[in-house]
Amino acid sequence: MNELLQIKNLHVVYQTDEETVYAVNGVDLNLSEGETLGLVGETGAGKTTLALSILNILPPKVGKITEGSILFEGEELVGANEKLIREIQGNKIAMIFQDPMTSLNPLLTIEDQIGEALLLHRKELSKDEISQRVEEMLKMVGIPPERKKEYPHQFSGGMKQRVVIAISLACEPKLLLADEPTTALDVTIQAQVLHMMNQLKKELKTAMILITHDLGVVAEICEKVGIMYAGEIIEVGSLEDIFKGKDHHPYTKGLFGSIPDLNSDVSRLSPIDGLMPDPSALPEGCKFHPRCPNCWEMCKTTVPEYVDLGNGHKIRCHLFGNQNGGGGI
Ligand code: SF4
Repeated sequence: MNELLQIKNLHVVYQTDEETVYAVNGVDLNLSEGETLGLVGETGAGKTTLALSILNILPPKVGKITEGSILFEGEELVGANEKLIREIQGNKIAMIFQDPMTSLNPLLTIEDQIGEALLLHRKELSKDEISQRVEEMLKMVGIPPERKKEYPHQFSGGMKQRVVIAISLACEPKLLLADEPTTALDVTIQAQVLHMMNQLKKELKTAMILITHDLGVVAEICEKVGIMYAGEIIEVGSLEDIFKGKDHHPYTKGLFGSIPDLNSDVSRLSPIDGLMPDPSALPEGCKFHPRCPNCWEMCKTTVPEYVDLGNGHKIRCHLFGNQNGGGGI
């Protein structure tokens, strides 16, 4: 598989007059064409900030990439000119936001909203061709095309999210950033939308970064999983490595220990003690050390390097030593 996205040592901050929030702290990440990565972590881990950075839509003036590189199809997106960014946004890279209720414009028909991206990026298409493409997209996400003249309020929550997905896929992006795409939906609709996204991924061969705090959603749809904590990816590996492997970062173990498992006979869950650190005052050394049951002296002062356990399974923790080399993810 060809490398589509290569992120190296990415640092992102939110700077206000009062404080500096260190949202992403040295993320390395590679994604190949057609591959799906699940990015998992608690609220505030930096998952959404990472996606906003890739799409170059960090809040203006406040959000800043201070260091690092984002290569997409070999082109540098950090500091890229307006022309390249326009060519990429909503066209080669698209994003599905969390809440379908606020992602759609209540004053425009869904035909206008799906057609907008095509009007902007597929200038060669005639009006009729755009209209035809809108119908195809609606069919693809399971909405009868004859409903294209309707407005968002005429659709249920699940249908609205399908419309949002149709908008993001209209230009057949190479990379789709899906930020908690099913969180606002009830479980039945969630299952339908996940099934549909799986189908679309196969049909269009779109690579995807799926941001979620739900490990069940990751198991449904991803081939690769990255666990994020305090702005760092602390473990990454194949779905098999993360869900079935025996070696894990203590935070990953805590995440799995916090969810019920129907196959194991435990009377209580074992949640992770404490809270995510304040991102404006991150701890020295390993950022997980104040909550880690395995913490030792070195963890409090020295930032751990990535350790490669083989097959792309990498962990950032002193427990694993550094005998296998390490290096970025
Ligand atoms: Fe725990 Fe130390 Fe590993 Fe951090 S580096 S996760 S504190 S054992």
